[in-house]
Amino acid sequence: MPEHTMTIAGRPAPAEATFGVINPATGEVAEVAPDATRAQLDAAMHAAHAALPAWRGDEDARRKALLAAADVLYSRAAEIGRILTLEQGKPLREATGEVKGAGAWMKYYAGVEIPREVIQDDARARVEVVRRPVGVVAAITPWNFPLLLAAWKIAPALLAGNTIVLKPSPYTPLSSLKLGEVLREVLPPGVLNVVSGGDDLGAWMTGHPVPRKISFTGSVATGKRVALAAAPDLKRVTLELGGNDPAILLPDADPAAVADRLFGAAFLNNGQTCSAVKRVYAPASLYDAVVEALAERARAAKVGDGMTEGVQYGPVNNRPQFERVTDLVAEAVAGGARVAAGGEPLDRPGYFFAPTILADVPAGSRVVDEEQFGPALPVVRYDDVDEAVARANGTHFGLSGSVWGGDAERAAQVASRLECGTVWVNTHLALAPHQPFGGFKWSGVGVENGPWGLYGFTDIQVLHTAKS
Ligand code: NAD
Repeated sequence: MPEHTMTIAGRPAPAEATFGVINPATGEVAEVAPDATRAQLDAAMHAAHAALPAWRGDEDARRKALLAAADVLYSRAAEIGRILTLEQGKPLREATGEVKGAGAWMKYYAGVEIPREVIQDDARARVEVVRRPVGVVAAITPWNFPLLLAAWKIAPALLAGNTIVLKPSPYTPLSSLKLGEVLREVLPPGVLNVVSGGDDLGAWMTGHPVPRKISFTGSVATGKRVALAAAPDLKRVTLELGGNDPAILLPDADPAAVADRLFGAAFLNNGQTCSAVKRVYAPASLYDAVVEALAERARAAKVGDGMTEGVQYGPVNNRPQFERVTDLVAEAVAGGARVAAGGEPLDRPGYFFAPTILADVPAGSRVVDEEQFGPALPVVRYDDVDEAVARANGTHFGLSGSVWGGDAERAAQVASRLECGTVWVNTHLALAPHQPFGGFKWSGVGVENGPWGLYGFTDIQVLHTAKS
């Protein structure tokens, strides 16, 4: 079994205890990860703190380091991608793509300007608004896109001049540990520390006196705990939380033309994507055609071990999530929903669930009202667009949503009525490094990506120089 080490102060930190990491394609423990002690977390925090003065003082070095980090990730994508597939389940091609995506984020931020704005320069004073790093950042990530979501934090935080302690999910620690290991070559000691452990370790981080900022991606429930833990010390928080993204098809949409994109946006990473389409609203006139077009694609999808060539959808990542999806689907079916495709776990080891399309789901079903975060998509019938918009907005979530129609302008008008951080027209899940991403309502606080994501890792400082 290969040894996975944490990165503390630029060096491998030996495991004093370990925990098992399960391969979701088998349901068996595949490898083990270090279980950080409190002393090791302290060491990581103090290493990050000690690295701050030199790091924040040299912007040029930071940009070069981010470019070097991008190169390392591109060149080692295949190796790291295999580790990601082993622990996460996603097809190898997507895992390798995720590593390269993490590299793309490093590269993007290497070129982002850190603004200094002169807002007054006259006989009385020169007043400049500058952005200062907040200090040590505690970064906590979920199991669905461990590396990409870590890069969304690492790249802007480092560019701004902060240092980091990163903690991945206990379900997917190995790829992040590897990330820490390969970046030891290009980052000064202490600038990026990676520790692994259970949920307790996350709570220790949010309560730790050293970090000034917590950048968290995960569920709404944990996000609220993070906000509470940050409050006594007034740590800054960015929270990227869950979503229950609606996709509304307007009566002039063409089901056959949009079905591939719609299906892809719902089932990417097996539906375990914060801003995946999680419920479809179709007008009565198109309802049967939409259900059938999606069901056809669900039946044709190739499900299997992500390591196998040609597999499009791997297992659900972990047992609790697998059981949740199974329960949500069973409950909807017991209440009268019609299974247009899938509907059940696959009869094989591991956490495999057949890509599922549900029609005629009774009102109040949790598979519509809650975030299912798995390969089961409900299609809901509506009679008029106002009703669809009201149902789309009638939730605590507000991450993203989309509207699909032949008349793009009309679709954009409807999209602007959705209460969420990103609205797409005739597409969904189109994300990019320069495009800010965040949620309304319970889906989050603050945004990531683009210059706005960078600002979240800074405090504004006013430099006011009197002239007379
Ligand atoms: P989770 O909230 O269970 O765990 C996320 C991370 O928080 C893990 O590293 C976990 O160990 C840690 N954690 C758990 N308890 C903690 C505590 N008390 N204090 C600090 N850290 C703690 O979420 P998950 O199940 O890993 O991820 C799935 C969720 O993440 C979904 O709701 C999904 O929508 C959301 N998500 C959101 C985005 C986004 O950008 N908005 C992106 C991806 C995933």
